Amino acid sequence: MLAPLIARLLSRLPSQCAVCRAWPSQTLCEDCVLQLAAPRPRCQTCAIALPAGTRRCGACLLDPPALDSCFAAVSYGFPWSRCLHEFKFGQQPGWARPLAGLMQQDPAWEALSERVDLLLPMPLSAQRLCERGYNQAAELARQLSPERCHGTLLLRLRDTPAQSTLPRSGRLRNLRGALAVDPLQAPSLRHRRVLLIDDVMTTGASLEAAALALRAAGAREVHGAVLARTENAVG
Ligand SMILES: [Zn+2]
Ligand SMILES: [Zn+2]
Repeated sequence: MLAPLIARLLSRLPSQCAVCRAWPSQTLCEDCVLQLAAPRPRCQTCAIALPAGTRRCGACLLDPPALDSCFAAVSYGFPWSRCLHEFKFGQQPGWARPLAGLMQQDPAWEALSERVDLLLPMPLSAQRLCERGYNQAAELARQLSPERCHGTLLLRLRDTPAQSTLPRSGRLRNLRGALAVDPLQAPSLRHRRVLLIDDVMTTGASLEAAALALRAAGAREVHGAVLARTENAVG
C-alpha cells in the first residue's frame, strides 16, 4: 500500500523539464508549454491546423466525417513526438499526467469536456495490450476525467496494418469490423454524448470507424480528442 503514496510524494518533488532541462520544474515547464503548445486554429471536425478564421478544412467540407467535432492540443512534431514515444514505447505511463495537462491547458478543452457524458479511450487489441502492459489512450483518459472514463465499452477485435498510404475509403474498409461496442454495455451508450480519446491522430480513420460503431449503438454525439495531430495527412 506504500507504493502509491511514495509515487505521489515523488511526483511532488521538483524535477527537471523533460524538454529544456530547466530545474527545478514540473515534467514540462511553463515556458515550454507556452511556447511549444500554444493553441492554434484547427478544423472543427478533423483538428488539422488551419489559417485563422477558417472553421473547416476542404476535405471535411467535401465529405463530412462521422465525428461531431475533433480537438487536438498540439501538432505532432518536436518536442511532443519524443515525449509521446517515451509514453507509448518506453514503458513510461507516468507521461499521462503532464500530457493530459497539455490538453487541459487549451481553452477549447473545457467547453468540450463539459459537453460530454463519457470518455472512451481508443482501445488496443488484447495482444498489443499484453505486449505493452498498458493502453496509453486509457491512461490519458483516466487523467482527464477518471469518473467519466470507460475503458471496456469499445473493443478492438484485431490489429489493422498501417494504413496511412490508403485512400480514405480504403482505410475505412481496412478497419471494418476491427472496432466494436461491447454488446453487454451497449445500452449505457444510448442518447449519451461520447468523447473518444487517443494519443495521436494521423489519418483519423480509427476515430472515424469508432464513431460509426458508437453511433450505430445509439450514441447521440461522438467527439474526438487527441493530444497530437499530424499535419500532413490527407483527410
Ligand atoms: Zn522546459
Ligand atoms: Zn477537417
